[in-house]
Amino acid sequence: MADLVSHPDEIKVVSKRFGQGAADIDRYLALDGYKAAQKALPMTPDAIINEVKTSGLRGRGGAGFPTGMKWSFVPKDSPKQKYILCNGDESEPGTCKDRLILEHDPHSVIEGVMIAGLAVNAESGYIYIRGEYRYLSIIMQKAIKDAYARGFLGKNIFGSGKKFDVYWHGGAGAYEVGEESALMESLEGKRGIPRIKPPFPAVVGLWGSPTVINNVETLASAPHIILDGAQKFADYGTPKNGGVRLFCLSGHVNKPGVYELPLGYSLKKMIYEVGGGIPGGKKIKAVVPGGSSTPVLTADEIDIAMDFDGVAKAGSMLGSGGVVVIDESTCMVRFAQYIMKFYQHESCGWCIPCREGTDWLKKTLDRFHAGGGVKKDINNIQYLAENMMGRTFCPLGDAAAMPTISIVTKFRKEFEDHLEGRPCPYDPVGSVRLLPVLSH
Ligand code: SF4
Repeated sequence: MADLVSHPDEIKVVSKRFGQGAADIDRYLALDGYKAAQKALPMTPDAIINEVKTSGLRGRGGAGFPTGMKWSFVPKDSPKQKYILCNGDESEPGTCKDRLILEHDPHSVIEGVMIAGLAVNAESGYIYIRGEYRYLSIIMQKAIKDAYARGFLGKNIFGSGKKFDVYWHGGAGAYEVGEESALMESLEGKRGIPRIKPPFPAVVGLWGSPTVINNVETLASAPHIILDGAQKFADYGTPKNGGVRLFCLSGHVNKPGVYELPLGYSLKKMIYEVGGGIPGGKKIKAVVPGGSSTPVLTADEIDIAMDFDGVAKAGSMLGSGGVVVIDESTCMVRFAQYIMKFYQHESCGWCIPCREGTDWLKKTLDRFHAGGGVKKDINNIQYLAENMMGRTFCPLGDAAAMPTISIVTKFRKEFEDHLEGRPCPYDPVGSVRLLPVLSH
């Protein structure tokens, strides 16, 4: 069970039922549960899609693609079965928001899947939950069972004569499967590696049929949009960045936690007011704005609006909403090493730039941080990462390269300092390693 936090600046939409026992179906119904699905039932698919378009909702999994537009790509005239696939394979380091939705409000995810189904004339939806979230899978399985028992799912949903089934599927613990086409491969019972695109899932998805794939938070937002009105949701955010989103604030902040804030909220304010500032009054060295795969920002770059466009303007990405604060005492070479350890481990090995690139980067960073670096390593790390960009089948290659390039570029001096103050001049453990000592 994760601890819940709150701040007066929050606008609780997706999180409004957190801590209120809404995993229980009766409690969910008492808190306006399943009203949105019933409201959507008599609506035409186009009317539902237009509502979602008006809301400005963009995918909360990382890419930020407009959700209504994604739903509109499903071909109306296709005679094939259509599917909804909820991506609950949350594994981006620094991100822990979907787990709260799945734990505290699983029926909102089921309801969101149903609404997406009504929007594209699908009769089946799958909720894929990452392997490490076993306890959440148990919660979701019970929620689905309870929804069937009430007649909200099945052959005659809410007595409407329409059919809709929802299935749970558990992953086996691979970060790579968070990529939508690898997710489909895994769900089909194959090894979870990506497919070559195009064709895109909206046309050729699960079992060759049109498929809508959305993140947990994206789908959990849909019932609120349908029930409370698209414009109300849009107005919370900024133009082209509708609504609120769950930000996972972690690292060196006094009050880490998952906060639901309007898109466009100031990153600086998020760290210093919502997060209560940096422990010990230390200074910020860097901030990861959207999960470990996003380029880091320096302390001078955090006066920005946290929406997709604002963060892009600052040279990074809003990504999955995982904001990691790094204080002045952190070694950025070690930070790069930690990130690469993760990506090297998670690379599926299909394409060479990712498989070999992450391995070489990890080995080089390990050696460099341990005191065995040479000057040309610094350029080599940057060159290697730059040559992985855009040369891999799925985004994991870019995800490993982007933070690395930003760290070498923005914190080059720290790499150079490691050549002077071996093994690590920034490591607080063992004062003999500190630069000032060695420079005497
Ligand atoms: Fe696999 Fe990496 Fe290639 Fe993605 S980029 S397909 S994880 S080897």
